[in-house]
Amino acid sequence: MSCIFCEIARKNIKAEIIFENEKIISFLDINPVNFGHTLVIPKKHFADFISIEDEYLLELNRGIKIAAKAVTMALKAEGYNIFSNNGLAAGQSVFHFHAHIVPRFSSDHIKFKPELKIYSENEMKIYAEKIKNELIL
Ligand code: AMP
Ligand code: ZN
Repeated sequence: MSCIFCEIARKNIKAEIIFENEKIISFLDINPVNFGHTLVIPKKHFADFISIEDEYLLELNRGIKIAAKAVTMALKAEGYNIFSNNGLAAGQSVFHFHAHIVPRFSSDHIKFKPELKIYSENEMKIYAEKIKNELIL
């Protein structure tokens, strides 16, 4: 299986690396939403968030926080988006989990907010029950 982010993690493909440790690596997105747009990935291949082994979750979250802080400070950003597209339907194009960190400015006019839906009566409860039935705690 060839995966571009595995190749970046193994240093077989060049990337503008921000930081790394044993479990994670962070590098600049090659096609940024805003300059400084940074990605954080586990070095081990997991296709999406649900697939990530628990032992990577803490380090991944720590890495996202460290990167978000550095990106914000470096660019004097007024805010930042942290997001991850999981699955083709959600817009994922590289199937190795990655968190996006995008520095934001009130003047940048980037639109991340979708049109929102409204629940009809009782519908919210039905959805909550469906989800609760699938919980593996
Ligand atoms: P997504 O569409 O959410 O799966 O995000 C994939 C991201 O990876 C996109 O924002 C791409 O610009 C970025 N990307 C793809 N190839 C590379 C690469 N070689 N180096 C850095 N970023 C990349
Ligand atoms: Zn991979």
